[in-house]
Amino acid sequence: MLIVIEPNTDENKLAKLSELLIENNAEFKEVNFLNEKIFILFSSKKEELAEKVLKFGFVKKVLTIKSPFRLSSREFKAENSKIIVGGVVIGGSEPVIMSGPCSVESEEQIWEIAREVASKGADILRGGVYKPRTSPYSFQGFGVQAAKWLAEAGRYYKLPVVSEVMEISDITELYDYVDIFQIGARNMQNFKLLKELGKAEKPVLLKRGNSATLNEFLMSAEYILCEGNSNVILCERGIRTFVEYTRNTFDLNIIPTIKELSHLPIVIDASHATGRSELVKPVTLAGLTAGADGFIVEVHPRPSEAFSDGEQSLNFSEFSQLIEDWKLLKGPVLTIRNKKTAGKNLHA
Ligand code: PEP
Ligand code: MN
Repeated sequence: MLIVIEPNTDENKLAKLSELLIENNAEFKEVNFLNEKIFILFSSKKEELAEKVLKFGFVKKVLTIKSPFRLSSREFKAENSKIIVGGVVIGGSEPVIMSGPCSVESEEQIWEIAREVASKGADILRGGVYKPRTSPYSFQGFGVQAAKWLAEAGRYYKLPVVSEVMEISDITELYDYVDIFQIGARNMQNFKLLKELGKAEKPVLLKRGNSATLNEFLMSAEYILCEGNSNVILCERGIRTFVEYTRNTFDLNIIPTIKELSHLPIVIDASHATGRSELVKPVTLAGLTAGADGFIVEVHPRPSEAFSDGEQSLNFSEFSQLIEDWKLLKGPVLTIRNKKTAGKNLHA
């Protein structure tokens, strides 16, 4: 149950509501979300409490959400969430392009890539500076120094930047250099990190854990949302299955499913989902056709020399081909999407 409070309600009134909830043994959490004060009750079986709560004139409405994920659900918010970062709209009318290297390897490398992807129409520059590597002997990232190079290249080419944080202390270290914080697949259920990013005033790109169910994925988003940060972008980046010829298996099904259940934008990352550069284009185009709000691709001028994920990185010419093909497909894809939206409004 969610109790939505009228705007500008003073603290004394809110204290009365808290008292009532405590008297009724209701566990709850108070959150400022999308310009509204909301009390989230942990148990939804409190119908009789709803009646009492509604007697307070400052209670705007009481919502009973059936799904376990609440603030991320369409039951809570029917219209798509748009996340605006440096003039780029994620979850708006057009899918966004996020690209860059797996790792920021040098100042020259990130500038070379930023120039290339910007010239091809990328909206957001990605680049890892803290790398969650399977082996402790693999390249671990150049940290803050690399974040500074990333930020400078992004600023010059007018591309907001996204980079991964692996632990709470990384948030402060990268705060001035990063526009979107990425939570990697391996940290999708690092609840302390999620909570801390819920308090940050920057968008969060939440990657799906490689064995996470849809419910677990959205519950992780919920950890961020219920701390007050409404700017969460979901990312499908493949899951572990019995398939051994690709790094992961891209879960195409989850895209229309998430669009149905949640108002949050979802982008796709076919680089990590496939692990093979030749599969990145077809899988990206499939994900966009299925309704993704954007795509991430790893790009490197010389993939065979990349410090990480070279096998799945597109070279500049492959990146151009992907963009060219997306331009061909975009018209029909958007026409079909707009038809669906119009249909929905008709029945609303
Ligand atoms: C990455 O984006 O480089 C990365 C490590 O992604 P994931 O967490 O999806 O493996
Ligand atoms: Mn990578």
